[in-house]
Amino acid sequence: MSARIVLLGPPGAGKGTQAARLAETLGVEAISTGDIFRANIKGETELGKLAQDYTSRGELVPDSVTNAMVRDKLASKISGDPSELGFILDGYPRNVAQVEELDAILADLGVSLDGALEITADNDVVTERLLKRAEIEGRADDTEPVIRHRLSVYAEQTAPISAVYSERGALVEVDGIGEVDEVTARLVDALESLEK
Ligand code: AMP
Repeated sequence: MSARIVLLGPPGAGKGTQAARLAETLGVEAISTGDIFRANIKGETELGKLAQDYTSRGELVPDSVTNAMVRDKLASKISGDPSELGFILDGYPRNVAQVEELDAILADLGVSLDGALEITADNDVVTERLLKRAEIEGRADDTEPVIRHRLSVYAEQTAPISAVYSERGALVEVDGIGEVDEVTARLVDALESLEK
């Protein structure tokens, strides 16, 4: 048995940092769809060309592209017993249709999700963090208008998926405000309540 977890939360909540830490703790891979898109854009691959316009505007890349990418990635991780498939998904699913697609992908692979952990942080805090990150990392989609757009895409398309997992009894919310170590500790505790 291995951990199969979705990490939810708004842009700037610290998902990337926490996904890496949880992945290390659990001995599984953190899979960030945003990182896969950025690597493909940098490498000028076909996938990168398909994604670039959307990511630079802060729009979601079309589901047909994203779902196929995630399906391939998860399928490629299975070599032998499917129950050993483990992952932390960071940035996927991002709308209700992707939740359903993830269910279908995992059913086809013969496994199920343990559940979703949601890192919560209010809008002002994440906006401020993203603007600060923009200065440090210079990410193409970290300009103020694109940040605001990404947050509105999150509110409209991504936030509703929490209710879907919650209705299944498969969601635990974790306060994302505090020191990085503190938030990691809260997530590790939350994992235990998902397992119950
Ligand atoms: P992130 O690094 O998770 O903030 O993602 C950066 C950008 O990649 C997003 O603003 C989207 O354009 C794209 N992206 C990442 N994950 C997804 C997804 N699950 N569905 C559609 N687009 C995505």
